[in-house]
Amino acid sequence: MLSSQSLNELVRKAENIHNLSEYAKFLTKNQDYFHSKFKMYIYYVNRIAQNEPDKPISEVHKIQRSGTSKLMARVLNSQADYLAELLKKEVFSDADKEKILNCSQYLKSVSGIPKAAVLKEELLKTLGSLESDKRWEIYTNVKHNIQNIYTYHIALQYNPDKSEGLSEQGYIVKNMLSYSQNKLTKVYTNIETDKRFNNMLICRDCSPKYSAFRYIANSPEGAGRVKQYADDISYAIAENKLIGNNSYLYEFMGAVNSVTKGKIKLSRNNIISEAQDKVFKEMKSDYIFEDYEGIPCACCGVETLTHKQKLNLFKEINRCENLHELNNLSNLYSKHLTAKGALIQKRFNRLLQTNPEIKEEDVMLSLQYLSKQDIKHEMQNIKKEIFEFSKKRKYNNFDKELLNDFIYKIDNKYSRMKPSELFRYDEYDELVSDTLNRMTSPYKKTLIKISKRNIKELYLKDALVSPPPLVVEKTGSQAKAMIQNIFKLSVLTVDHINPKSNGGKDDYANKVGYCKDCNNAKSGMVFPAWVALRPEININLPRHLKKIAEIIKKERIKDMQSYPETAARTSMRLARGKLNIPEKYDTIG
Ligand SMILES: [Zn+2]
Ligand SMILES: [Zn+2]
Repeated sequence: MLSSQSLNELVRKAENIHNLSEYAKFLTKNQDYFHSKFKMYIYYVNRIAQNEPDKPISEVHKIQRSGTSKLMARVLNSQADYLAELLKKEVFSDADKEKILNCSQYLKSVSGIPKAAVLKEELLKTLGSLESDKRWEIYTNVKHNIQNIYTYHIALQYNPDKSEGLSEQGYIVKNMLSYSQNKLTKVYTNIETDKRFNNMLICRDCSPKYSAFRYIANSPEGAGRVKQYADDISYAIAENKLIGNNSYLYEFMGAVNSVTKGKIKLSRNNIISEAQDKVFKEMKSDYIFEDYEGIPCACCGVETLTHKQKLNLFKEINRCENLHELNNLSNLYSKHLTAKGALIQKRFNRLLQTNPEIKEEDVMLSLQYLSKQDIKHEMQNIKKEIFEFSKKRKYNNFDKELLNDFIYKIDNKYSRMKPSELFRYDEYDELVSDTLNRMTSPYKKTLIKISKRNIKELYLKDALVSPPPLVVEKTGSQAKAMIQNIFKLSVLTVDHINPKSNGGKDDYANKVGYCKDCNNAKSGMVFPAWVALRPEININLPRHLKKIAEIIKKERIKDMQSYPETAARTSMRLARGKLNIPEKYDTIG
């Protein structure tokens, strides 16, 4: 399949050819773009070019045209013979017999190339109105062979008035190439639906056949080709980041399964997981540095992964045959782990070292237990800190009650620590709004801050060791899903220095690269508050910008040369004195 741009390119090339042997070479070189119907044309041009290389190209076309008339006469004759043969072999009603005979006589009587509309009308009047069940089969058989000659005939016509300035050979090449482009066909032919999933691209060779899809599905190579088609589409969606089109694929698969009654079974496994991951990925962003390796997160400084690196790592994870291989692999890539991921990896490592025979299920339970324990400890810290803070402050009775309520719930829930009895994060969030948030005291803000400071991060960490069933199903292992989860956090994503929710613009002056972990943690937080919470930005943002400057210099990315300085300036301006970083970055080599 050619894009319209490359099609025009080829036509332009054809226009500039002025001798036959060059033209023959051009056709041969590009023959894959021509439908098989035109192989004959290419063959003849080559043959004449061998014997008479100086013959004008237009002469060759004249010869071909007269050849087409002869060919048409021959095909019409052979179709008439086919009908006569049919009358001998099969049983028809008298009325049908007469119609078939009429049609056969008509085909024999035609001279030259009949008008397509006249011929079609004649075929419909006779074969198309037969009483026999086979009328459409017979009609199609006769029409199909004649149609091929028409295609050829029409492609060879040249009318200078209608050629939009193209020369004869340019025009003919354009005709043939346009004809050779793939067409949309329907998967379900018996249901009237224009829904996207019912469309499939196929070549012209297959498309005029009745129920093209069924024809393909029943051909020996059909199943493989349809699978290949689904794969190609999935890649096309993924590579062009056509987010939202993945549903086409699933619906298409469903339609295929149903129309072929399971004969062609397209399952999700047919879809290359790489492509799928790309499709589902939320990073639809024009931040170009996502594709460069070795960029440190502008916040925590971890060496981020590109999306491609992540996919390769996922493949390696999937290939691991046991927990120890998985552990070695994650050790090997540990420089890419964020703090959260590194903690989980360390625990995973330690569990395997202390008990090499440990079962996967027990590893996961232990990790889940430890992670809940972290939350429990943090709750105790919060409780202590709130006590400390409140000792020196006075509350009214209403506030006191709410505060006690908060403490009581936490104590009660956590006194008998069982992972299953923990609050979920949204429940905790609700508890805070039901208690601390309803207080009238001016200290309420500080209390809420204490109650939330680290807890969300701990819950996020907890979620990593309990991967959702769907992901587990995909990898076939809880541990693999978990290791994938923790490396996912390290993928470079675009961060808006001033959050979009706070009016930040979606342009480069407001963009830096964060690992996904930091990006999640920051979410809508305004920049000064964020820098106060994560002072390491003072060190890591310059490292980040320096690396990007090196990339710009090395790759000669011309229109980005001012980017690092702009991003530094935006950060300094927005941080309101909480940030102190250099503003000069060398991008010009
Ligand atoms: Zn085909
Ligand atoms: Zn980070």
